Amino acid sequence: MDAPVVIAGGGPVGLSLALALARYGVRSIVVEPLEEPVRESRALVVWTRTLEIFRDWGIYDAMVEAGTFGTRLEPHEAKTNARLLTVDFTSVIDVVERPGYLLVPQNVTETVLRRLVREHPACDLRTGLSVTAVSQDAGGVRVLVRDSAGVETELTAAFAAGCDGAHGAVRHAVGLTLEGATYPVHVVLSDEILAPDGPDFDTPRIALSSPTLLAAIKYADRSWRILAPQDGEAPDALGDDARAARVRALFGEGVRSTTVWQSRFQIHRRHVPSFGVGRVVLAGDAAHLNSPAGGQGMNSGIQDAANLAWKIAYALRPGYDVARLLESYDAERREMVTDSVERMTNTLTTVGLRTSSRFKARIIAIYSRFLRSRGMQRKASRTLGMLGGRYTKSPLIDSHHPMAGRRIDDVVLDDGTRLNRKRAGNAALVVAGEASYGNAPADAVVIAVTAPPKRWQVRLPAVIVVRPDGCVAAVVEKPTPERVAKAWSQAFALA
Ligand SMILES: Cc1cc2nc3c(=O)[nH]c(=O)nc-3n(C[C@H](O)[C@H](O)[C@H](O)COP(=O)(O)OP(=O)(O)OC[C@H]3O[C@@H](n4cnc5c(N)ncnc54)[C@H](O)[C@@H]3O)c2cc1C
Repeated sequence: MDAPVVIAGGGPVGLSLALALARYGVRSIVVEPLEEPVRESRALVVWTRTLEIFRDWGIYDAMVEAGTFGTRLEPHEAKTNARLLTVDFTSVIDVVERPGYLLVPQNVTETVLRRLVREHPACDLRTGLSVTAVSQDAGGVRVLVRDSAGVETELTAAFAAGCDGAHGAVRHAVGLTLEGATYPVHVVLSDEILAPDGPDFDTPRIALSSPTLLAAIKYADRSWRILAPQDGEAPDALGDDARAARVRALFGEGVRSTTVWQSRFQIHRRHVPSFGVGRVVLAGDAAHLNSPAGGQGMNSGIQDAANLAWKIAYALRPGYDVARLLESYDAERREMVTDSVERMTNTLTTVGLRTSSRFKARIIAIYSRFLRSRGMQRKASRTLGMLGGRYTKSPLIDSHHPMAGRRIDDVVLDDGTRLNRKRAGNAALVVAGEASYGNAPADAVVIAVTAPPKRWQVRLPAVIVVRPDGCVAAVVEKPTPERVAKAWSQAFALA
């Protein structure tokens, strides 16, 4: 075999998957046609949960150094500069060590990820190559790749991952299509650099006077992403006049800017009926397409990689049920994409892009009032930060307990450290109270929590089985060594 895993696509998701696999000691080859990362800013926000995953992979510092970290989100009305509402991510400091988000344009994200992949001995990034076909049998996969001169070679691997974006060749090769809907609205995105001699502005900005949604978010010094939905094709939407009108509505008369890049496109709510076939799996835009409202597209793709990587690592070891591990990847990520990502992006898209400014202003006023309560602040931070959601349909999860299928809270332990720092991307047995669990599996970190938070609803003593991706697989109350071993066996698909 050329490598245990061949990854088609070196976008943010393919590169993340390579780094995640490397974290679990698995070598991969990444096949990518483009010699350089994309030039457009595309996805701008890396949310709390994705940052937490980066920490598990040991790449948090490199990513955070490349962007601007924020703990508060405070949209301002463009005309009056009034603050419309505040989401304060520090409201969830008890369950996540670094609550907040990172503003970083996708071209920078990809540049950093490429560098990290190139530096890691377990990752082999091969640019100038495209995947053209994939075939498989019970023992492995064959991936046909073509270079720019048309020369074809075959790579063999135990698994292939299609991270090759919306028009993915791998998805096509396994006969899957992105099913769902396309919104009857086009979106214009543009990146503008404001003239250096002009004023600075609060970010993000929403022009509530605009008939639909017109918003701007600052992603670097004087650099702004503008988002404007258009009903129908609006042929002149990319023209100078339309562009100048958008800048005027968002920043006021007389503000000059240079357009770095702009594009108009349709937005979708689509996903594949299965996140893989046999030993070929799909992740990121190859598996699901979402509206940019809420900035969840790239984040959910990276979270696919976090869910998949440890499963492939276990599937490569003897004694684990490969089919069940991959079945769980499909069940879990499809549930998360349909129940959380699509629901949230759809609500934001429907309210934000397709309702009148008066209605929007009322909704914002209602939310602003709600957000005065600490409970609502926590809820908003968890939802936006992608810390919520639950896997309920997975063969690896014993969902009897309300904690099972959820991300484990990163609580402060008795010695002052955080649970996730101690876990460091490994599987764990979290022991609550005086519990008996026998011999811990070799790959488990054992973490004692003497007084678990009330919201865990755990009756002491208990042993909580946590997977490498930070998801609770089972809560064993009244534990015995046999019951803990059984729960572990289900969580990791021991054959
Ligand atoms: C204009 C635009 C604006 C966007 N704005 C936002 C935003 O504001 N917020 C947000 O969250 N998301 C946004 N997105 C979506 C976000 O960019 C994607 O969700 C994200 O890029 C998905 O990453 P990916 O790695 O799955 O796919 P991609 O980024 O599409 O990467 C796929 C990679 O596969 C490669 N590839 C293609 N074909 C092959 C092949 N045959 N063989 C091998 N490799 C192949 C491509 O060259 C590419 O590098 C935007 C997208 C676009 C196009």
